Amino acid sequence: TNTRYLDRQDQFESKVRSYPRKLPFAIASAKGAWITDVEGNEYIDCLSGAGTLALGHNHAVVKDSIQQVLDSNLPMHTLDITTPLKDAFSERIYNLLSTKDDEYCLQFCGPTGADAVEAALKLAKQVTGRTGVISFSGGYHGMTHGALAVTGNLSPKQGIEGLMGSVQFLPYPNGYRCAFGLPKTQSIQAHSTYFERFLTDIESGVTKPAAVILEMVQGEGGVNAAPIEWLQQVRRVTKALGILMIVDEVQTGFCRTGRWFAYQHAGIDPDMVVMSKAIGGGLPMAVLGIKKQYDVWQAGNHSGTFRGNQLAMATGLATIDYLDANDMAQYVDEVGTWFKGQLQALQTRYPQIGDVRGRGLMLGLEIVNPKASADVDGSYPADSDLAARIQQACFKAGLVIEKGGRAGTVLRLLPPLNIIREELDEVLTRLTLALDNALA
Ligand code: PMP
Repeated sequence: TNTRYLDRQDQFESKVRSYPRKLPFAIASAKGAWITDVEGNEYIDCLSGAGTLALGHNHAVVKDSIQQVLDSNLPMHTLDITTPLKDAFSERIYNLLSTKDDEYCLQFCGPTGADAVEAALKLAKQVTGRTGVISFSGGYHGMTHGALAVTGNLSPKQGIEGLMGSVQFLPYPNGYRCAFGLPKTQSIQAHSTYFERFLTDIESGVTKPAAVILEMVQGEGGVNAAPIEWLQQVRRVTKALGILMIVDEVQTGFCRTGRWFAYQHAGIDPDMVVMSKAIGGGLPMAVLGIKKQYDVWQAGNHSGTFRGNQLAMATGLATIDYLDANDMAQYVDEVGTWFKGQLQALQTRYPQIGDVRGRGLMLGLEIVNPKASADVDGSYPADSDLAARIQQACFKAGLVIEKGGRAGTVLRLLPPLNIIREELDEVLTRLTLALDNALA
């Protein structure tokens, strides 16, 4: 039973750190968008291995790709020495990033997103000779020292002093709860103006940073999709001032938002692109894309034993080929727009859903207390207790979702990209049931 495994986790409470506190089940198997626990209960998975499983669980093309590597006796590990598989994988990523104006070189990184963030921060310092970094409130970049330093959430930093020098945080636009307390119509302009003035007011004590690092849609920070105009302004200003723009596509990349990369919505050219999660098709992989003119490193400058795992290249390549052959960016754009409309329809019935936001199949619901008085920007206070109750009710209704945002008040939906409408209808049915149960 589930209890048997959960009890064992509890016994080992001090030894085994894991998810079961939030999602109390033991998984027996999973296929597509469905998970089955050890008691035979079925759940729809709107977490997708934290966004790593673009094609859901155990997709045939992913499984076949692993089998092919095994059958070919390719070494499991090559210490970053090239193989025909690495050659094909690298060419694929190079072609996805490079445009007629910009060529991107690739740095394979230790297999987690955080390691690729570390690489980007180090390289930005070396390229510019400057040390500071600008980051954003609510941004999430990982748990290692450098990545944590630029993460805009204080709770994981407690007791870890002196992370990395000179990180300045600026407000990230949020269409529902504006940092400046302004209504939607004025909020984007205010963020754009503030960003430029902050960096150009040389008398203010602001030191010119090496880089700006940001997500195009903040995932862990509560599914905040940055407005296109603001992203274009950040690009314009950083370019004019010679500050590198590092775009963290760890969660948004590989069709998640309805484009291959989320920065393409804004038509901008990042100086570096951080990639992980879906790039490995479910196995660990991280790669940093670097605009050619900033690729000043020599081989070995950012090394790590487990860079470029062969199996992850196979599963990553199989996933990317499938996304391409099936025009998944387009599909996610369409199905995501439809699904967001359905969630907005739900919002009209449940005023506790203060905001529905996100792009493609990266969507979030901010849970609020609509009985309190509204703020100047029209937002209601976030309700973290209710958000937690809804998440638990979803779990009981057979729907796995995650929470994010400040104090966990945003319900996050990250289904597999190939989820079909009938399954999303089932997500809506289960979510509605959960809302009714949590509010009863
Ligand atoms: N950047 C973003 C945007 C992420 O969402 C995450 C992980 N959730 C990371 C970086 C860190 O990746 P990892 O957990 O693989 O180190």
